[in-house]
Amino acid sequence: MKEKKLSPMMEHYIKVKEENPDKILFYRVGDFYEMFMDDARLASQELDLVLTGKSAGVEEKIPMCGIPYHAANSYIQRLVKKGYKVAICEQLSDPATSKGLVERGIIKVITPGTYMDEVMDAKSNNYMASISISSWNVCALFCELSTGELKYQILDRSLISLEKALLTMDTSEIVVPVTLDKRWLAALEEMDTITVSLQKKENLENEDVKLLHENDPEIVKNALAQLMAYLKETQKQHIDHFMPVTSMDAQSTLVLDYETKNHLDLITSHSSSTKSESLWTFMDRCQSAMGSRTLKQWIEMPLINAPKIEKRQRAILTLKNDFILRENLKEHLAYIYDMERLASRMAYGNASPRDVLQLVTTLEHAKPILELAQKIESYPEFKETPDCHSLYIEIQNAIVENPPLTLKEGGVFKEGYNVQLDELRNISSKGKNTILEIENKEKERTGIKSLKIGYNRVFGYYIEVRNGYLNDIKEEYGYYPKQTLANATRFVTSELKEKEDQIVHAQEEKNRLEQELFTKLLLRIKEDLFDLHSCAKALASIDVLVSLTQLAIDKGYVCPVFHPEMSVKVIEGKHPILEDRMKKKKFVSNNWIMDENNSIELITGPNMGGKSTYMRQNALIVIMAQMGSFVPCKSCELPIFDRIFTRIGASDDILTGKSTFMVEMMEANVALRYATKHSLILFDEIGRGTATYDGMALAQAMLEYIEEVIQAKTLFSTHYHELTEMENTHARVKNVHVDVKEKKGEIEFRYRMIEGKADKSYGIHVAKLAHLPKVVLERATQLLKDYENIDNTSSYQPSLFVMDPIQPEKSKLMDRLHELDIDSMSPREAMECLYELKQLADEIE
Ligand code: ADP
Ligand code: MG
Repeated sequence: MKEKKLSPMMEHYIKVKEENPDKILFYRVGDFYEMFMDDARLASQELDLVLTGKSAGVEEKIPMCGIPYHAANSYIQRLVKKGYKVAICEQLSDPATSKGLVERGIIKVITPGTYMDEVMDAKSNNYMASISISSWNVCALFCELSTGELKYQILDRSLISLEKALLTMDTSEIVVPVTLDKRWLAALEEMDTITVSLQKKENLENEDVKLLHENDPEIVKNALAQLMAYLKETQKQHIDHFMPVTSMDAQSTLVLDYETKNHLDLITSHSSSTKSESLWTFMDRCQSAMGSRTLKQWIEMPLINAPKIEKRQRAILTLKNDFILRENLKEHLAYIYDMERLASRMAYGNASPRDVLQLVTTLEHAKPILELAQKIESYPEFKETPDCHSLYIEIQNAIVENPPLTLKEGGVFKEGYNVQLDELRNISSKGKNTILEIENKEKERTGIKSLKIGYNRVFGYYIEVRNGYLNDIKEEYGYYPKQTLANATRFVTSELKEKEDQIVHAQEEKNRLEQELFTKLLLRIKEDLFDLHSCAKALASIDVLVSLTQLAIDKGYVCPVFHPEMSVKVIEGKHPILEDRMKKKKFVSNNWIMDENNSIELITGPNMGGKSTYMRQNALIVIMAQMGSFVPCKSCELPIFDRIFTRIGASDDILTGKSTFMVEMMEANVALRYATKHSLILFDEIGRGTATYDGMALAQAMLEYIEEVIQAKTLFSTHYHELTEMENTHARVKNVHVDVKEKKGEIEFRYRMIEGKADKSYGIHVAKLAHLPKVVLERATQLLKDYENIDNTSSYQPSLFVMDPIQPEKSKLMDRLHELDIDSMSPREAMECLYELKQLADEIE
């Protein structure tokens, strides 16, 4: 093969790529960002781009694909969402004027954690974590670039705690030290929703020390130093809009771990019964994205301090009783934009004139909101909250009412804001008149009526004279011919050129000045960043309080009462979401009563009887109560719980490939180890994943341990009827069961919890409801009778009938029929369905 050299540009490309192997390099060439080689192959697949080849000096063509630079944002967003990092390599010198190779360099790296464009989902957070490890602990420092939030959590030095913390915060990227243990690194890289980035150790810069408090531990400082170094490397600028770090202290919140949040569908919904509604989406009546995000935090971190909870309750009461106050607040809250993110964008320097307008609108309404909120007596801090009114006046005086989307379009500032700007605007707008004046003057001087002045990009202003009149142009007029057309000639004069220079110059000067003034305005806004953040926080809290009040009013919720005893008295409690969703049937409310001496409620009863619903609803009531919300019941007295543990549902953890039983035991283990007398434990049919005797033995052992050692309040549903005997031997165990009515072999569910144990399990009845083949049901009934008389072995009847084989077509037809939801069908769908059913029926001989 002939040795050939790569072109100089490709050589440069390869050098930059070698320095950034873990990023997709967007290499600016003219109006395009080009990707080459492996990046091109990857990007063409991920972005559905056409892969082409570029001859770059060598014989084979180099794989290449490109995107127009002005459309880059949407492509970057798609790649970053998939977890890639994108490095933007720009042309740093003007290709028109530079000799030789255009100078290029990386101006920014966009990563999943640093992505902060407007299109980001407004209601959710985008956290990036930086971790630092000491002999005993891991510090996970979470930051959100778009809001300037920094908070940390100190964890045990264990990979599992770290993984859970990352999942709980829905982290998109994690920055780790280059020295991180290989096993840990591999495990983190395995997590598909998280991008891992390595960072060399750096010292904390002096100006960032102010983000820490005196008593923040050393590992927090290390994690912060690492984060700041990483941000500087990727953003190519020092990030200075962070608020000081706060601690996510587990001591001050009701601890809900990752599994519990999932099992209870707090933030995202997993179960089909609630029609994909999570507690968050159900409760959210906030008008601003900041409010929705704050509500989410309140749900994820309920309080454990009674005065703090009561503070929120009292605010809701005030708002509930004062219709006018509530409605006035709502009216203003409708104008609140995402001030947290706006302020950060201003400070970061990538705000648009529209962003500034949104900030102005928000501030305009911030003042009346804060004034109204002074009536909420349990929140005296609203009186102290800065309303940033002087900043509002300043921006309002500067920006026009309807500024353009981008600065380039011009016309952002009001008349009278800047004398020089006004003058320049005058010149360029007068320019048009000046040109008209010249046109008239020339018409008169030459006597040519059809003479006119035009403009094009190549020659600028010109005087156009029809060729028939050329003789009228005298030498002394000073006309210089510029262009000859078929029927006319274009001229310029020195006067015309002079005016043109002035107009163009004024235009350029005006743009430059507007840019300068805008930058200054952003800097001015940045001065008030801290106040803007406190104001935003207060507005978000007010939004949440109004939203919780509206929920309480709409649904008729009551204010829970907390007491120091470990006893529970929830009267007529309901599952908030199911109650709301049930249209035809009415949701049956249930009491949950446990006195100080009760520790375990052992729940038995048939499948589909409402056991899981009852357990979940009680946990949701506890969470809602401790976040300060009103709750779905008639009255409610609760202790303050410190932690909720759940083992609900039989979902295999497909991601990590653990079997149901293993997952079940691991979750039980967490509860048994960490629960205290003040915790709430929900164990739903534990032990189901293994052989009957194993499962039952494990369940009983766990119950005994909870009863004797932990004494946490526990809701334990089980299908092992033998366990109900424990009530007789263990003082703190109480049996309850779901009420069902049996009529002529059919069962009717009542969904009501009543004291005592269930008399039988009704498994076959439920199977009947599921339309199992009749022969199977009959055989099961017969077998059951035999088991029940097991000591009288002679009565055991072997199956006398030959089992009717189940016809697959028939069961397909039956399945289709059962799953039909006729009410939701359009006439056309119904018709199509009828044809389909007919065909299925025809297949059966
Ligand atoms: P189990 O855990 O006993 O098998 P579930 O709690 O899963 O039963 O409830 C099964 C279904 O019964 C629910 O999806 C719901 O439709 C209905 N249900 C449960 N509890 C109630 C209730 N209190 N009122 C009305 N319907 C209920
Ligand atoms: Mg269940």
